[in-house]
This record gives sequence, C-alpha cells and structure tokens, in this order.
Amino acid sequence: TASSPPPPQAREILSAAATALNSDETDDNQLPLPAHSVIRLIQCPRCSLPLRTPLRLPCGNTVCKSCLPPIRQRTGITYPANDERKEGFTCYWGGKDTCSGEHCLGDCGTDVLLSKLVDVFEEVLANRGATPDTVDPDAGFSLTWRSSLESTPMNARIGCDLLGGVYDLVKQGRFDYNASDVGYAPEDSVQQGVGQSFGRLREAVRNELDCQVCYSLILDPLTTCCGHTFCRGCVAMVLDHSDLCPLCRRKLNMSSTVRSEPINNRVSELVEALFPAQIGTRREGYTEDATREDKERTIPLFVSSLSFPTMPTFLHIFEPRYRTMIQRVMRSRDKKFGMVMYNRSGRLQQGLGRAQFMQYGTVLLVERFELLPDGRSLVIASGVSRFKVISFEMLDGYHVGRIQRVDDIPISEEERQESLETSTTSELPSPSVDAASTAPERLPTQQLFQIALDFVEKNRREGATWLHQRVLLAYGEAPTDPALFPWWFASVLPLWEDEKYHLLSTTSVRERLKMVVRWVRKSESREWYLSPSTGVFTSFTPFSMSVSISFGSAPSPASDGRHRAQNEESEAYIPQTLVLGIFLALFATQMAINVVQIRRARRREP
Ligand SMILES: [Zn+2]
Ligand SMILES: [Zn+2]
Ligand SMILES: [Zn+2]
Ligand SMILES: [Zn+2]
Repeated sequence: TASSPPPPQAREILSAAATALNSDETDDNQLPLPAHSVIRLIQCPRCSLPLRTPLRLPCGNTVCKSCLPPIRQRTGITYPANDERKEGFTCYWGGKDTCSGEHCLGDCGTDVLLSKLVDVFEEVLANRGATPDTVDPDAGFSLTWRSSLESTPMNARIGCDLLGGVYDLVKQGRFDYNASDVGYAPEDSVQQGVGQSFGRLREAVRNELDCQVCYSLILDPLTTCCGHTFCRGCVAMVLDHSDLCPLCRRKLNMSSTVRSEPINNRVSELVEALFPAQIGTRREGYTEDATREDKERTIPLFVSSLSFPTMPTFLHIFEPRYRTMIQRVMRSRDKKFGMVMYNRSGRLQQGLGRAQFMQYGTVLLVERFELLPDGRSLVIASGVSRFKVISFEMLDGYHVGRIQRVDDIPISEEERQESLETSTTSELPSPSVDAASTAPERLPTQQLFQIALDFVEKNRREGATWLHQRVLLAYGEAPTDPALFPWWFASVLPLWEDEKYHLLSTTSVRERLKMVVRWVRKSESREWYLSPSTGVFTSFTPFSMSVSISFGSAPSPASDGRHRAQNEESEAYIPQTLVLGIFLALFATQMAINVVQIRRARRREP
C-alpha cells in the first residue's frame, strides 16, 4: 500500500508524543505534547480559528469553507465535463508535498469526520464550567508566544485549565496558527494544568475515530468525495466489490486512485498525536495483512489473445493444461484469471526475457461456465482490471504470473494533461484549426471521443461488417462513457492485435482516445492494409486463438495489397459474425442440456 509518511509537522508531534509515552505509558491523561499543539490540530491554517465547515482539499490539506482561495472558471478541460468540475482555484500549498497547485472545486468535499471532531473539541473545552481562575484572577498559567503577524512578543493569562485556556485564545482569534516560541509559566505544574480536560477530550475524540468498515482506529485515513473517512486499506477492500461509499452509498470513482490518493493530513495528525501507541499497534498488525495480500497477487495466466476491461471474452477451453487451470479457477473464491496475448514476435521484455506472452494483460472474471461432457468447457468472462506481469513460474504446464495493477491517473491529473496539451493549440496563429489535420495530442479530449463516435456512426450507416448485429449482441452498443469507449472500440474494430495491445498499458482516458483517433485516421486512409506486419489481423481476437480458427491472414505488402486486403476483409468478416452466433448458440444449448441433466438427477433422488 502507498501509506505516505506523515508530514514533517506530524512527525515532530509524533516524536514528542513517543518520548512522552515512553516515560509514562500508563497515564492516559498525561499530555504528550504542548497544549497549543493539541488545539492546533483543529485550527484553520488560514484564519487560525477552529475550523468552520472544514473542506478537505485533494492534496490532503484542510481549510474552512470560507477560507478557500478565490474561485474561477477552469479552461481547457473538456473531460470529464461535469458541472461540478467547471470551477477551480489555485491552492495555498501548491508546489509543496502532494499538492499539484490547481484544484477543482468539485474535489473539495466537506470533511464530515473533521467537522464532528471540531464539535467534540468545542463540547469538551468550551463547556468546562466554572474554573478556579474565575475565582482568583492571579491563579493559573500565563502564556507567552511570538505571533507570525505581530513583531512584539505576545502574552496572556489563561487560567488553570491549559487546554481550555489556549482554546479560548484561539476562538478569540488571539493565538495564530503559526505562533512560535510558546512558553508556559509556571513550567513545573504544566502536567497538573492539563487536568481532566485532556482525558475527557481524548476519550470523546476516540469515540469518533473508528473506521466504519473495520471498526478499529482509522489507519492511513482516506477521505472520499462524499466526505467520509475510512482506512485506506478498507476503501481498497470495499472497492473490490462495489463502487459505493459504505456509509452513504454514493458513487466513489476511486478504484484507480485509492492507492495513490493523499491521506487526510488533519485526521492523520490527530490520530498520530492523540493515540500514538494504538496506531503503532494497528500499523504493525496491518503490515502483516499487507504482506499476506502481497502473496496473493499472483494469478494463473491464460496465454491466448487480447481481452479488455469491461468487455466480454468468449473462450472454448480444450487444452488439458488449461482445463486444469480453469477447474482451479472455478474452485477459487474470486473466480479470476489473467488473460495475456501471445508474444508472437518473440519480443524481449523487461523482467520476463523472451517469455511466450506479452507483459500487459487483463484480469478476467468468469461470468458463465459450462462444462462439456468430455472435459472441455465454454467460458464467458468479463474484463475487470489491467495488470503488468513482473515475473512468472510454471504450474502443471500453465503460467502463473506475479502481477502489478495498471491503473489510470487521477481525474485531476487527467484534466491537467488535457489543459497542458491543448493550451498550445490556442497559441497558434490561426484559430480555425482543422480537426482532421490536427495531431490528436492537440485536440480536446471530448473532440477525440466525438471523432471516434462519428466514425462508428458512419460505418454503421455504410453497413460495416464489424458492426454487425451479432457483434453488438456480444459486445453491446458503443459506450457513452469516454473512459470505457476505447475498450469496446478495440474489441470490435478489425485491427492488428499488436496495435490494440498498446491500449493495455495506457494510464489515462485521454491517452486511450488519442490512440483510438490514430486508428480511425489510419482506417480512413486505409493505411493499415498496406503496412507490413507480422501480426494476426483479426476482429474477434478471443476466437482466433482459443477456438483455433484464424480469421483472415495478414495481407502481404505486395503491390496489389490494397485490393487483396479489401477482398479478404469482406470474406473474413461474415464468417466471424457467424462463428460468434454459433458460439452463443452452442453455449445456450449446452446450458439447456446441463439444466435438463440437473433436473433429471434431482428427480432420481429419493
Ligand atoms: Zn479558516
Ligand atoms: Zn493543494
Ligand atoms: Zn478501517
Ligand atoms: Zn460517503
């Protein structure tokens, strides 16, 4: 997991806390850090008041809603074009740590947990009743500090309750967030001055800090777009099964970023400062879990052809080694295996040498499985996620790969790239840039998508065989989501497999759409029919290898290449749609037979 180290400030608090804890671990009411450092945990870095409607920024920092920098319209971004992503601002923390500098307003949600914690501080520290200082103004502590706003040293009398006293100063706006040289007098009774406030505060805060997934102290706090905070590991686990927030059921859209998303700095600091011992124990326990998870990141590999996320793959499994493999997959808990393409040209790949298969592949989840009487099987699987094989070993004749997930960059990064790449376009002397001749790099993401949609529409009108009804029956209509469209397009478009393969290693929607537009342009110029290649020219890649039927061979780069290729195209694609129909029919028949057999078997039972 990408548990980022605590920020420097938290580290400082941490070491102070650790020292204090080592000296006396049994007394929970001991103040492990100075009173002002405790109050600082809920102080706004901009206005220095206790946070009011805290917003969690995408870089992991927090400010009051009213302390956000000036909001402005964002330009040069067409994807994703939601209303809530149209406004943005330049962040205070730009250039530091994880902050990219520019944030989208839609990415800054109210931090539900932190709002609650600010209330807890208020409840415990503001309602502490009559304190001795109201009786005797000379009793209690005096505080001295240097404000970042004033040149002269500051001082105040804060009564006998240190935490409450400092909290009052903060609420009055007298003690700023960046105060330094803080001194308490009399120094020797500081521990006493903490009184019961710290114990009560700690207890009240602890009640709020349980993760609602694992019911333990939140580890590596990650805040979702809906403002709820969980352990990073818990969010990752939830996302394996659904894309909804476990608390409010809103859509998360985090599956690709859950490992890289910055932690919630504020909540993390609070946990580290107030519960250093507990979080230490949690972390030790978690490291064990993580390594266990690590071992499980191996997957059986089916070396055949290309599969893509969200798209179905149809397999006829007849080779004995893959029969063994699929039986094991079906007995496994998650029913997943990896699909990788043959390394036909014997390419040398990093870490794999001249392995039989290509490095990037797709995790497939078995959706339907029909066992034929002779041990062969028909499988319909759907693409779940992408991976890169790091190393592999053989098991009973098939490959087992150690894999690393391949994910898209966060949406904010996606937007940044688009605005960066397209901004050079606007600087061109001629504003009327012809989309057809512009390099895909310079086109807005939405326009790239539109070019592909127009191409599909045109081909449909012309009755292109690769958009035959049977093809659409298997792969569905063209997705309206630009993030998913390229997977569909690559599944149905007749194109060299080697070319489609590059799609698997992309890490942004924009990158995929640029690739798609290059294919569209090649197709329109019929360029690819003439380019010499060793690749197999197929549409239904899964069939070509797994059903052992090769559709159409690569056209030769001879002088009559264009003519021949066109002929081959029309000959090759009609049978393919037929084969798909036959496969589905076979599948349905086999299912019916199995159902009848099961019914018969049940009837025979006493
Ligand atoms: Zn503020
Ligand atoms: Zn920021
Ligand atoms: Zn948790
Ligand atoms: Zn939620």
